[in-house]
This record gives sequence, C-alpha cells and structure tokens, in this order.
Amino acid sequence: MKKNSKVLNHKFWLDLIMPNRCPVCGKVIVWNELVCNKCESNLPFLDKPFSVSEKIHNNSMNNACAVFEYKENAVKGIYNLKTRKGLNFAEYASKYLVKYLSENDIVSTIDCVAFVPMTKSKRRLRGYNQAERFAKFMARKLDKPLMNDLLLHISDSSEQHTLDYNQRQQNAETVFKSALNHSDIKGKSVLLCDDVITTGATMNKCAELLKSMGANSVYGTAICSTNLRKMSPKE
Ligand SMILES: [Zn+2]
Repeated sequence: MKKNSKVLNHKFWLDLIMPNRCPVCGKVIVWNELVCNKCESNLPFLDKPFSVSEKIHNNSMNNACAVFEYKENAVKGIYNLKTRKGLNFAEYASKYLVKYLSENDIVSTIDCVAFVPMTKSKRRLRGYNQAERFAKFMARKLDKPLMNDLLLHISDSSEQHTLDYNQRQQNAETVFKSALNHSDIKGKSVLLCDDVITTGATMNKCAELLKSMGANSVYGTAICSTNLRKMSPKE
C-alpha cells in the first residue's frame, strides 16, 4: 500500500508540470484518472473473464488472458503506449488483469513477473519496451519482483506483425533465447507480459523457454488480443 500511495503522490506532482492525458484521444484528464469517460465507454473489452487460452494453438502457457480485443480504441491505446504517450493505457489494463488473476486464484501462485523482450538495438533506439512498462505495472500491483533479464530477443530479421500464422511460429522459434543465468526461476511460477497477443506464437515460445529454464508454470497476460480465430492455422 505504501508503494502505491507513493506512486499516486508522484502522479499528483507530475501533473502540475506535464498534464495527465487520456492514452486514447490525448485529451487532458484529472491527475488520478487513467482514461477519459468517452474513450472508456468505447473500449472493446473482451468477454469476461478475459481468458484467451483456448484460442491459442498448442498453448504451452498454464493460462493466457487479455483485456481488450485489438481493434478501434485499443489500437490507439497501444500505439500511444509504444510512443510513450499512453502509459496510462498499460496501467488501466493492469487493473483489470490483476482483478481477473485474483478472482481466478492465480495471484497467490505467482512468484515473479517477466516480459517479452525486444532486441537490444531496438530497445536502445526506442529507449523503451512497452511490454516491459506493462510488466512493471503488473509487478507493482501484485507486489512481485520484476525479472529483467530472463529472455533475450536476438534478431530483428522479421517483424512478427508482417508474418502469417506459420511464419510467426517459425520466426518465434529462432529469435527468442533464454538468458544464461537462469537459476532464479527454478520451480517458480512466472507471469509473462506482452502488449498484444496475436497468434500466441511469441508468448508460447517464451513460455517454453521459461519452462526449459526450470519454471514450474507460466501465466501469459497481455493488454490486447487479436481475434485469434482469424489467425488460426488452416484446418
Ligand atoms: Zn479519451
């Protein structure tokens, strides 16, 4: 609680210098709000309880959930999050995800929080990994440690969003690796965070790696999920 009240205090003073804004439309909002009323009423929430596990092909996660379908206002929120203007969007989603995890008795089993990494060069260029920022909100709200260096993204050769389902599977196989020193997660339960679940190929691969590093279970959480049925492999 003390940590959260410190954060609120910080937001109050920050608002005096840099007014708080809606992460979807950019309108100035009250310092302790996260999204303006108009945008909030038009957010494409996924059907409760947000579980997308059954839609992911060959799912190696123990559970996967997201808050919004990746369309309309949620696309704007993610875009602004990527450009640093929409941090509130990640915080807003984390509030719902923590509630969902808590209602489904998952919170008590989580030991630490991790995120889908970016390549070092992209991270340096952008100065910012949106999945990491989202994971920070989750770790803070859950009061669990954030593990920064469990996974590596070793190549920018292909952007996942430009690939079809099968290419995404193959690409994820080659671009993610586990870090060398991974004794910290043996027998632990890891909450894995990303901004958007598209086919689930990226999160699946990261979950597989975390399990190969000794993690006992991996729970995937994302702010958005695409309509996964559209991306499924052809039957
Ligand atoms: Zn708005």
